[in-house]
Amino acid sequence: MASLNIDSPRIQNIIDGKCLDPVQAASIKYIPVTSPHTGKVIAQCPVSSPEDVNLAVEAAKKAFVAWSARTVKDRVQCLIRFHNLLHAHIDELAELIILEHGKNKAEAIASIAKGAETVEYAISLPQLIQGRFLEVSRGVTCQDTRVPLGVVASIVPFNFPIMVPMWTLPIAIATGNTLILKPSEKVPLTMNRVAILLKEAGIPDGVVNIINGTADAVNAIVDHPDVKAVTFVGTSHVANLVSERCHRLGKRVLALGGAKNHLIAAPDCNIETTSTDVVNSFTGCAASVLLIIGSHEELLDRIVAKASSLQPGSQSGEIGPVIDQQSLDKIISYIEASIKVGAKILVDGRSWTQNRTEGFWIGPTVILHNNKEDKALHDEIFGPVLSIYQCSSKEEAIEIENNNPYGNAACIYTTTGATAEWFTSRFSAGMCGVNIGVPVPREPFSFGGINRSKFGNFVDITGDGGMEFFTWRRKVTTRWGQENLDPKLRM
Ligand code: NAD
Repeated sequence: MASLNIDSPRIQNIIDGKCLDPVQAASIKYIPVTSPHTGKVIAQCPVSSPEDVNLAVEAAKKAFVAWSARTVKDRVQCLIRFHNLLHAHIDELAELIILEHGKNKAEAIASIAKGAETVEYAISLPQLIQGRFLEVSRGVTCQDTRVPLGVVASIVPFNFPIMVPMWTLPIAIATGNTLILKPSEKVPLTMNRVAILLKEAGIPDGVVNIINGTADAVNAIVDHPDVKAVTFVGTSHVANLVSERCHRLGKRVLALGGAKNHLIAAPDCNIETTSTDVVNSFTGCAASVLLIIGSHEELLDRIVAKASSLQPGSQSGEIGPVIDQQSLDKIISYIEASIKVGAKILVDGRSWTQNRTEGFWIGPTVILHNNKEDKALHDEIFGPVLSIYQCSSKEEAIEIENNNPYGNAACIYTTTGATAEWFTSRFSAGMCGVNIGVPVPREPFSFGGINRSKFGNFVDITGDGGMEFFTWRRKVTTRWGQENLDPKLRM
């Protein structure tokens, strides 16, 4: 771990609209936040304690009273202003994402724009959330309306410093809840800035509270009796822990985990568009396995050529660093293990690591496996690594995809509808694509996988799933017949 530079700025929690040091600031440990480009310390992230979580929950509970009493039309006015501020500050926010995460400029901007789309969905909630009303028998009506849960929590990973928080925050608060958000300790700067924009947009103090920290803060949030529901996005291991903890407490939980997204190239795929899409997908850490039906040497050559031509950097089209030394070591260990078992390294990203004196750099790496049991084909590596395996048939390809323990996304590249249909109806993945390497639904569709990519007892995240997750339905059955009137008032 990088040593702590005490001159680097200390991040604060944001509780009840105020920037606060943790309660035990004098005695707590701060975690160094490092620039992935240089490895240098750029900030210090506090490790909040249960006392800090208590303060945040108290603030959120107090704010809930007035916030939930406002109409949804009124609440989304703040989100309209917030949406405008996100766009007005898009360059500044992108710089923060580049600084602390390492995305290139185009990816950083695209991730903010995608986050802004979920804000747009939340802004449209007055059109969507009105509930139902019906006369179910003569004189008897049933009505259901959506009611906010109270204080809810969102725990997010490092890989999308704004986009993933926006999967939950706008819908959670537009539906009338107040929120505790815990950013990743690896990238706390961006959401710290966003919290100031939320305040500028007129979102009242206490409606969104930011708690920084690690597992202890997460556990304190989950365990707090006034936190009514928890969303989580991160590795499958932790998603499972959080989900189980919530289940033991009888709490509503939606926990998205890791992924091993499979791409399948049919013999009739368009070589040019498929190779571009595959390279974009794996270098952005979306897909990590490509199953080629047949040998398809031409497709392999195009992928190798395109991946080899990429350059390190933070400008659009360049490939940024990975988040930290631990991630770099893990990626390299999988490349070395693949070599040991006889896989061929078609593009070796370790040259970037060797050529750089600082930061956490590894270039696109393409591994051709000759054994489908190789670990790199199965484990989530979470780096710019593509594992390729050539299958003898479409049946073998679907069997490999179906047997992977994750179930986030999968895609078939083909130029025929019948092949597309054959695969999309057999994929074991929550999000299926045809000729699109990151098959991620956009609003109003919800997002989410199956198997070890999603835990919990509830719906998908964003869109309609978000509205469902963050509300309960109040059902009112009414009989207003004459017989219920005071006899003097009967007509
Ligand atoms: P992570 O699981 O290490 O951390 C996620 C959050 O959990 C962080 O806020 C962290 O502080 C907290 N945390 C870490 N350990 C914990 C513990 N033991 N108990 C409670 N909380 C804990 O994930 P990460 O490395 O930040 O993010 C990368 C992972 O997220 C990858 O596996 C990636 O696939 C996954 N991810 C999934 C999706 C999806 O849509 N399914 C989207 C983005 C990222």
